[in-house]
Amino acid sequence: PDHPAHHQPGAACALCPRLVDYRQRNRATHPDFHNAPVPAFGPLSARLLVVGLAPGLKGANASGRPFTGDHAGTLLYPSLLAHGLARGSYAARPDDGLELVRARITNAVRCVPPANKPTPAEAAACRPFLVAEMAAMPDLRVILALGRVAHEAVVRALGLKLAALPFAHGAWHGLPDGRILADSYHCSRYNTNTGRLTPAMFDAVLTKVAAVAGG
Ligand code: SF4
Repeated sequence: PDHPAHHQPGAACALCPRLVDYRQRNRATHPDFHNAPVPAFGPLSARLLVVGLAPGLKGANASGRPFTGDHAGTLLYPSLLAHGLARGSYAARPDDGLELVRARITNAVRCVPPANKPTPAEAAACRPFLVAEMAAMPDLRVILALGRVAHEAVVRALGLKLAALPFAHGAWHGLPDGRILADSYHCSRYNTNTGRLTPAMFDAVLTKVAAVAGG
């Protein structure tokens, strides 16, 4: 636990047999993909930590950068750019030169799960990395959970009770240590295509989050 890189699982992390098997199968069919736990992106000095669900098969699992390469990043990165939490431009590839500013992005589960659905056991297995991630961020002020699974992972990682901190889009939870847990629906293709999450709704959340993380 004291290892400085404990917030990053090893490339061969074998704690989730089903996900290891899926990684190996993807390695055979897509040898050009990253096909390993996806490291967090952004500086550890960040004030904002964005927590997603898990890498997408042809997104982060392919590119090796969270929310990069499939639909997942098309709302998130332009929103971060618009609020001064990133600079450069987002071109859906890890060599696009985009840099995060006062922000870091990770996933509750670091390996791609079949059908985008990690099991509760997989979420639990990966949680120590999220605990270590937050512990490695000395200036962390606000955590933005994208979706219920990410929200629950963060609440559990903080050792808090889910019943006291219910997930809701737009919820703004003051934590006992003074930090904030903000919730949004996940910026997935499904949620944006169905209108469950509109760009205006996401922008409203980012505006509040950026006010805490900025300056
Ligand atoms: Fe390890 Fe997390 Fe991948 Fe499970 S999901 S194998 S705990 S890195």
